[in-house]
Amino acid sequence: MSEKEQNNPEKGMDQLRSKINEVDEKLVLLLGERRNLSKEVIKAKDLDNLPVRDMKRESELLNRIIDAGKTQGLDTHYVTKVFHEVIEDSVRLQQNFLLNKSNKPLEERSSIRIAIQGIEGAYSFLAANKFFAHSDEELEFVSKHRFEEVVRAVEKGEADYAMLPIENTTSGGINEVYDLLLHTTLSIIGEEIFHVKHCLVGTEEISLNKITKVYAHYQAAAQCSKFLDSLPNCKVEFFADTAMSVQKIKEVGDSHFAAISSEEAANLFDVPILKKNIANQTENFTRFLVVSRNPVKVDERIKSKTSLVLATEHSPGSLVRALMSFQTYGLNMTKLESRPILGNPFEEMFYLDFEGNVEDENVLMMLDELKRHTRFFKILGTYPEQELVSAKPAIKKYTPEELKISKENIASKDEKDSPTGVKKTKAKSYKLASRDFKPEDTIIKVKDIVIGGDTFVVMAGPCSVESENQIFSCAQEVKNNGAHILRGGCFKPRTSPYSFQGLGNEGLKMMSEAGKSFDLPIITEILSIDQIQDVVKYSDMLQIGARNMQNFSLLKEVGKTHKPILLKRGMMSSISELLNAAEHIMSQGNQQVILCERGIRTFETATRNTLDLSAVLVIKELSHLPVIVDPSHAVGFRDKVIPLAKAAKVVGAHGVMVEFHPEPEKALSDGEQSLYFYQFEEMMKELNSI
Ligand code: PEP
Ligand code: MN
Repeated sequence: MSEKEQNNPEKGMDQLRSKINEVDEKLVLLLGERRNLSKEVIKAKDLDNLPVRDMKRESELLNRIIDAGKTQGLDTHYVTKVFHEVIEDSVRLQQNFLLNKSNKPLEERSSIRIAIQGIEGAYSFLAANKFFAHSDEELEFVSKHRFEEVVRAVEKGEADYAMLPIENTTSGGINEVYDLLLHTTLSIIGEEIFHVKHCLVGTEEISLNKITKVYAHYQAAAQCSKFLDSLPNCKVEFFADTAMSVQKIKEVGDSHFAAISSEEAANLFDVPILKKNIANQTENFTRFLVVSRNPVKVDERIKSKTSLVLATEHSPGSLVRALMSFQTYGLNMTKLESRPILGNPFEEMFYLDFEGNVEDENVLMMLDELKRHTRFFKILGTYPEQELVSAKPAIKKYTPEELKISKENIASKDEKDSPTGVKKTKAKSYKLASRDFKPEDTIIKVKDIVIGGDTFVVMAGPCSVESENQIFSCAQEVKNNGAHILRGGCFKPRTSPYSFQGLGNEGLKMMSEAGKSFDLPIITEILSIDQIQDVVKYSDMLQIGARNMQNFSLLKEVGKTHKPILLKRGMMSSISELLNAAEHIMSQGNQQVILCERGIRTFETATRNTLDLSAVLVIKELSHLPVIVDPSHAVGFRDKVIPLAKAAKVVGAHGVMVEFHPEPEKALSDGEQSLYFYQFEEMMKELNSI
């Protein structure tokens, strides 16, 4: 900026803004250009009969873009987020091309008529706009009060499609819509999963405690109950839909009245947003079905889903026999819902979705088998599946020759070769955790991270959460280096009562925000039963530390939760005691236990503990549960963490948990064993090359 411009800050600002506008316009032009290329790609793929989605290529593309981003100072998370959108757009565009090719267009008309419950601005309207974003035709909306009228409008030809919400992640299935699907002649031709983000909107900016009335759809109000309770002197009035609530406050024009709606509806009606993200649960999704008079033919290269409704015979085990058909034909069922049959008390209709296409030979055979076990059967439609998983940056893989170590030499699965002879020990005092009970490896999913089987996960973070800055920079470090889960202690088990005991719930909230910002699952330790409720709410996994491995009442309570549990081996505990501790959790219902070897006390004092790496081999033989290694607490010195983490991978662990810190010498706990960021980066590279 010239000296003159500095003297006139307003002018300098104008110039900067106009430069930003220029850059934005260029970005839009480039996105358009990219989309055109994408159209060419699908034509070429079509000729060569290639699938629309190629996750491997998407991962490689992301890697390349992330590297390019780094040279421009753009972090991995930012680049990944932007390009997930770009890739999704491209996938939808290509799917549309194939769908249009194999289906006759609607009669000559330049618009598509979509029936929705509610008015423009309602969530059905927004979801429809998203679903039909790639069609060239204009969208025309046919607004109805009730779902039944929406369905009838399409049946009678008053509209071409209906947008029907079928389930919400917070409030569950929408029964009325399920019941309509049973009798309608319409077919499902698509689905749209819509992220619902409720806001409070008003007619003018006003402080929240002055609001006296809020209009809301009853479901939206239920989903925002905590926020509504926090408004003093405020009454809630229910309304048929969210957009109508906004329309109502505009009509009334009293600034003390507010409504709950989406951000998009607020923009559409041009009203100010008083507060964003007011729902009790931020992860709030509604799944919509798109139905029409004619089924669509889905090209086999598009991953598709089929929905059915059926009633089984009146005989014991008939549902099980019917469902076995899916296993016989290797088809993945993604949903099973039941609804009472009207007029037949205590009899059920089952609605189910599976991954597959009714055009596929294997699916047709499965359906024949399935029909043999039913007394009612109706296909609701085959349609492209909206995949919620996005490609992850690829991790470089090396060939065995490059590794020089042949995996077969490391861990033999053959029982005869078992040098430990552990199979021959006396009857076990644990059952659910044992391989005898369940021979195949347990696979545990934490958000979209898979633990167990052939995967190797890296959980990393500071010993303790110390500040927002600290945990956010750690989260960024985890993400940027392709590690998977963010760790951090909020309730710390310290030997001395005078040491830092952790930030408690405040730390938990900081960590949860950091996890969300960088799209990382988080794990934190709990010390007592009274912490379970909050930790379950904010954390994706719960950790039981070494000192609590045999706190049986705590094990029992976490066994009643639905979150994966990382169970650390006590420093004075045997492997059998560890597996019995896991059994305490599992016997209460929660089967998602991951074991962790973190070093045990021996006569050796040169290191903090002694890392018992052979435990990984023994545990894998005795149990189907995943097992990971924590080299940080085992050894106690940062210079020995990387070699031990590598050894853990070589020995066959399903992952590692390590501690790092932006400034280890200032850490409030376990500084000596915490890696510097540069060491963590080194560790990730070295682990990836094994
Ligand atoms: C920790 O992981 O923060 C911890 C306290 O570990 P451990 O229970 O293994 O000592
Ligand atoms: Mn620690």
